[in-house]
Amino acid sequence: VVILGGGFGGLAAAKKLARHGEVTVIDKHNFQTFLPLLYQVSTAGLAADHVAYPIRGAISKFQGKFRMGSPIEIDYKNQIVKLDSSERIPYDYLVVALGSETNDFGTPGVSEFALGMKSVMEAVNIRAEIMRRFEDLCRFEDETIFNISVIGGGPTGVEMAGAMAELVRGPLANDHAHAAHHIRINLIEAGPRLLPMFSNRLSARTKKDLEKLGVKVLVNTPVSKVEWRSIELRNGEKIPSEVTVWAAGVKASTKASDLYLPTIQGRVEVENTLEVKNKNNIWAIGDCSGAKNNQGRFYPMVAPVAMQQGRFVAKQILRKEDNHPLKEFKYKDKGSMATIGRHKAVVQINKIGYSGAPAWFTWLFLHLFYLSGIRNRLSTMIDWTFNYLTFDRGNRHIMDEHN
Ligand SMILES: Cc1cc2nc3c(=O)[nH]c(=O)nc-3n(C[C@H](O)[C@H](O)[C@H](O)COP(=O)(O)OP(=O)(O)OC[C@H]3O[C@@H](n4cnc5c(N)ncnc54)[C@H](O)[C@@H]3O)c2cc1C
Repeated sequence: VVILGGGFGGLAAAKKLARHGEVTVIDKHNFQTFLPLLYQVSTAGLAADHVAYPIRGAISKFQGKFRMGSPIEIDYKNQIVKLDSSERIPYDYLVVALGSETNDFGTPGVSEFALGMKSVMEAVNIRAEIMRRFEDLCRFEDETIFNISVIGGGPTGVEMAGAMAELVRGPLANDHAHAAHHIRINLIEAGPRLLPMFSNRLSARTKKDLEKLGVKVLVNTPVSKVEWRSIELRNGEKIPSEVTVWAAGVKASTKASDLYLPTIQGRVEVENTLEVKNKNNIWAIGDCSGAKNNQGRFYPMVAPVAMQQGRFVAKQILRKEDNHPLKEFKYKDKGSMATIGRHKAVVQINKIGYSGAPAWFTWLFLHLFYLSGIRNRLSTMIDWTFNYLTFDRGNRHIMDEHN
């Protein structure tokens, strides 16, 4: 079995299949990124390497194979994947788990002037930009205001804005109070409320908690353009923004259509068995898969969907090998959560929703549980304990390509 993409879905499938056959994982990175904690890297709460886990480490436990590279062509007839290294890898079954990429929804200026949130390098760049502008403010010591804007009021935007506010109010205020008091954080959302997948009550609570931390929350505020150090809103108003983070959404990896896989609204078109339409022995899972629920809507692009689909496809492949009929994929939604800051989070499990410290501890526990590797779990626990007890953030370094 060849698996394209060693993220949440790809590795879940690999683990489940490894006892039954030869599994090769292909990824352009030699590590898996734990995307849910990326915002903590950008806000100096975690060191970058705590959210990256070597794929070879993950697959060595079950003697899987790994190739670092990117697929450039699939020979469907002869069942061979060709990589950018020119290597040709034959397969009996192919699992496409290439994830997603930033979606700018055609908004001009996003790729030039906004910072994305899809990789460790991007997270490190955001941290460096915030800290660099902070150092500028320390030098000015006048009334210059420095605006940071996060665009997108989903879980990523909310978590990012909350963590930035805590960074500014705590560690940066201790470093240089005057500069920290001149930083403003905006969270800009096009829709009528934050966290639209949560209940109205939890959305309202999230907005209130963020405002308590000093974040200016703008809802019903679509952005029409991002420019150098400013944002243009659809109503024509321009707001200054020295650092703009784009957390407004993702779209399925465009690699799938380059490989001539059938797509539907950008995602790989699949049967309800997760087999790719009109392709033999090929499956698509996770963010790049166009699987739909009973109401005909795409499954959300979240880690539990990718992991459940990864494990499910492993079983489907075994069913096919044994000439057993394939099953229909059904997602078991165990709920959603987002953290806002210390003792502030929201959890929604079906109709049950809760917030505050219990939600925050649920969030901490589950993220530690799902983080890959003992080393990453231990080092994250140490960083979090340090941050919790000292109100400090030890990772506020400027370490990017400019420094
Ligand atoms: C900032 C952020 C925060 C998030 N927070 C949460 C959260 O709190 N909870 C939650 O449930 N979900 C969250 N998500 C969504 C979740 O991370 C994704 O749904 C999940 O990662 C999807 O798994 P996947 O296996 O489909 O893709 P991924 O885990 O993204 O894996 C895709 C893999 O494919 C590789 N790849 C991509 N293109 C190529 C190529 N051309 N060649 C070779 N390899 C390639 C990538 O390197 C990657 O390793 C978040 C996403 C982001 C961006």
